[in-house]
Amino acid sequence: MTGCGKEVELLKKELTLLDEKQTKSDKDYSIYFQPPSLKDAKKRGKEDIAVHYESAIPEDMKTVGTGKKYLIRTYGCQMNEHDTEVMKGMLEEMGYESTEEKLDADIILLNTCAIRENAEDKVFGELGHLKTLKQQKPGLILGVCGCMSQEESVVNRIMQKHAFVDIIFGTHNIHRLPVLLKEAYYGKEMVVEVWSKEGDIIENLPKKREGMKAWVNIMYGCDKFCTYCIVPYTRGKERSRRPHDVLAEIRDLARQGFKEITLLGQNVNAYGKDFDDISYSFGDLMDDVRKIDIPRIRFTTSHPRDFDDRLIEVLAKRGNLVEHIHLPVQSGNTEVLKLMSRKYSREHYLDLVRKIRVAIPDAMLTTDIIVGFPGETEEQFQDTLSLVREVRYDSAFTFIYSPRDGTPAAAMEDNVPEEVKKDRLKRLNDLLNVISREQNEQLRGQTLEVLVEGESRTNPDVLAGRTRTNKLVHFRGSKELAGQFVQVTITEPQTWVLKGELVTSQPAKVV
Ligand code: SF4
Repeated sequence: MTGCGKEVELLKKELTLLDEKQTKSDKDYSIYFQPPSLKDAKKRGKEDIAVHYESAIPEDMKTVGTGKKYLIRTYGCQMNEHDTEVMKGMLEEMGYESTEEKLDADIILLNTCAIRENAEDKVFGELGHLKTLKQQKPGLILGVCGCMSQEESVVNRIMQKHAFVDIIFGTHNIHRLPVLLKEAYYGKEMVVEVWSKEGDIIENLPKKREGMKAWVNIMYGCDKFCTYCIVPYTRGKERSRRPHDVLAEIRDLARQGFKEITLLGQNVNAYGKDFDDISYSFGDLMDDVRKIDIPRIRFTTSHPRDFDDRLIEVLAKRGNLVEHIHLPVQSGNTEVLKLMSRKYSREHYLDLVRKIRVAIPDAMLTTDIIVGFPGETEEQFQDTLSLVREVRYDSAFTFIYSPRDGTPAAAMEDNVPEEVKKDRLKRLNDLLNVISREQNEQLRGQTLEVLVEGESRTNPDVLAGRTRTNKLVHFRGSKELAGQFVQVTITEPQTWVLKGELVTSQPAKVV
């Protein structure tokens, strides 16, 4: 059966059972919720990916939100931030307005992250607080969505211990929010809809973007199955948006005056590998995006295994393609990389770095590193330190390994003692800080193009902005410069921020 056929069957089943629902005392959750078992979520079938272009908002839901407000709390990565933009877009097309005040909200959605245990703890803590609010305001609709909703244990826990939640929906069900809201308004029971599927592509969903920077999804899902990571199970298989859909969205953002775009995917370098009718890679996409009149184009996240020569050749053309590459390494030791199933060796990674440096000598590299992976010895950790010294990252996201239920690594013995993990993290961060400080020192006296974001969060007397390489710059200037490109001379480089002086507010030339 095709993906579409399955959906039709599911909908038929859903409608039949919805009729029966009136006479049932106990809700049959199985009509909505097929537990996202690891076995099912790991399947990668040969079914075609269906691209849907139809509107997600039913006619009778177009004004349902008039006079009502919504609040969405977002946890986790940019992918989630972008999903929130889509949900905001749909809610506003239904007439809802946004609020940051829980007390004013008629709908509160928690868009959750499953990547680390503490992200889950935060969500359950928030649900605890919201229980009181729900008691005071029974008409409030409370929803939980995002990656945690794809986990069977989480859904069961919410159904059993947080029965005041009105809707649970998964990452493949975001476009169904209007329909699920309708069921929540008219039904009396919790609405649970989590599709455990490889995933389709839904185009034309409204998006509420704010500011001058925009994220654009170019692909969804991941097929890499790194042994510590839950994403391939919660986000489905790798599937790329058609190039004309991506390019049309970016051209539209250019017309709207956006200054910076980040192309998003769990593994952007795999873009296009799932097309069987055309040969079109991530490098080809970047080459086409390069010709669109947007001053800065970024992308995240890269996987070193799929980072090919074509992409390096295109990035070297520069223009609006910035000199910043986030290249997660995770470990500097080949044995550990094997256990992580990263599918590259230390040597392969260093070779790739060398190629990038030859083509783009001033490229700034950042990375992700995990310490204390099961079985990691001191010697293997030393390999990570030596790799960091060799690559000289400008910054890195560093993490202590913690097992995620259901991943292959969770079945490995988590045998690095907690104090050893903490000590390794500290030594790694100390080294990264020294290197970052040294790299920044080289910028002293240089004049850089800065995109002004607005007042600094830590000091309202100064403005904050970002260089092409995404470094944070603080300088004094008029608040009216927010959203513009300016030239700033770096006078006081520090580890985390470059302090400087405004040279001119004339828009900088993109070279
Ligand atoms: S590449 Fe690995 S770490 Fe990244 S999302 Fe895929 S499985 Fe997770």
